Amino acid sequence: QCVAVCPTGALTEVDETGAVIRALSDPSKTVIVQTAPAVRAALGEEFEMEAGTLVTGKMVSALRRLGFDYVFDTDFAADLTIMEEGTELLSRLGKYLAGDKEVKMPILTSCCPAWVKFFEHQFPELKDIPSTARSPQQMFGAIAKTYFADKIGVKREDLVVVSIMPCVAKKYESSRDEFAVDGNPDVDHALTTRELASLINLSNIDFNSLPEEDFDKPLGESTGAGVIFGTTGGVIEAAVRTAYEVQTGKMLPRLDFHELRGMEGLRKATIDFDGTPINIGIAHGLGNARQLLEEIKAGKSEFHAIEIMSCPGGCIGGGGQPYHHGDVEILKKRQKALYSEDKNKTLRKSHENPHIKKLYEEFLGAPMSEKAHHLLHTKYFDRS
Ligand code: SF4
Repeated sequence: QCVAVCPTGALTEVDETGAVIRALSDPSKTVIVQTAPAVRAALGEEFEMEAGTLVTGKMVSALRRLGFDYVFDTDFAADLTIMEEGTELLSRLGKYLAGDKEVKMPILTSCCPAWVKFFEHQFPELKDIPSTARSPQQMFGAIAKTYFADKIGVKREDLVVVSIMPCVAKKYESSRDEFAVDGNPDVDHALTTRELASLINLSNIDFNSLPEEDFDKPLGESTGAGVIFGTTGGVIEAAVRTAYEVQTGKMLPRLDFHELRGMEGLRKATIDFDGTPINIGIAHGLGNARQLLEEIKAGKSEFHAIEIMSCPGGCIGGGGQPYHHGDVEILKKRQKALYSEDKNKTLRKSHENPHIKKLYEEFLGAPMSEKAHHLLHTKYFDRS
C-alpha cells in the first residue's frame, strides 16, 4: 500500500489503484472516470514533459485504453458548481445589499475539502458562512449516480465512479458519510495524478505517443470557466463571469479578470457589477486563510466573497500532483497552461454550457431547486 502525506498536514493518502483495477476487470460494472482540471496541466511531467504541457487529449486517450467505459470531465461539474454557488452568492448578496441584517457575509467557496475540514475543526462558529455547494468532485458523483445512471439504464450499485484528482484530501472527501446513499458512495475511488501515471506505466501504455482524444458527452462537456477551477483565483473568476451576467442582465465587456489572478498568497480586488462594487478576497495556503477568517470573526471583513484553497497555487500545487518541491516557477507554468486552455475554449462562461442547460431542463429544474439542493448541496459539522 502506497502512503504519502498531504501538504495540509491533516490527511494521509491511501492508494486505491488495486480497487480500480478490480472494478475495471469486473464485467458486471460500468466504470466511469472524471478528471479534475489541474491534472491535465501536470500529468505530462510524470512522462518527462516540460512543466505546463497540457496533456488533456492524451490523458483522455490513456483512460480509454485503461478500460473506462466513459471518460468524463470534472470541469463539467465545475460549471455546475458555478450555477449553484453563483446563485447562492447572488441570493445572499441581494439580501445583504437590501439591508437584511440576518444574512451572513462574506460567502466563502467550499470546493476544497482540506479547507472545509480546517474550518470545521478550527472555526466551527463560522460554519454557516461557506457556500453549501458541494465540490465539483461530489456534484459529479451525485449526478453520475442519478441522472447519468438512469440515462444509460444502469443501477446505482453497478456504476463505479472513479476520480482522478490533484489532491489527497479528495480521497477523504469522497468517504464522508453525507456523500453516500445507503452506504453506496457517490464517488467510489479517488486516485491522484501520480497514481494515474503509475497505472498508465503499469499497463504498458506509451503515454507520449498516444493520440489526442475528446471527452465523452454529456458529462465531459465544459467551458473555460470550469478549467480555471484548477488554479488559485480561478473559482472566483468563474463565479464572477456568471454572477455578473445573471445579476445585471448584461453581457460582460471582458472575460479575463487579471486582477483576480496571480500567485501572492493573499489577494483582493473590487469588481464593478454595473455600479455595485463587489469586494473579493482570495487566499491560498491555510495560514493565509486563517488571517481572513480572524477578520471575519472580529467583524472586520471588507469582503462580499472569498475564495480559499489549501494548497499553494490552488489545485495545480495539490498533494497528489507530480512533486514540485516548492518551485513556484513550476506552479506558474501549470497555471499558465490552464489559462491557455480557458482562452482556447469556444465557451468560457458556465451558464453557457449546453449540457448544463440540458441537465437543468431535463432533471434539476433550476439552480437551488429542491432537487438541486438535495443532490448538489451539503452541510458542515462542528469538529472542534
Ligand atoms: Fe485538494 Fe489542494 Fe485543491 Fe484543496 S487546493 S482541493 S487540498 S488539491
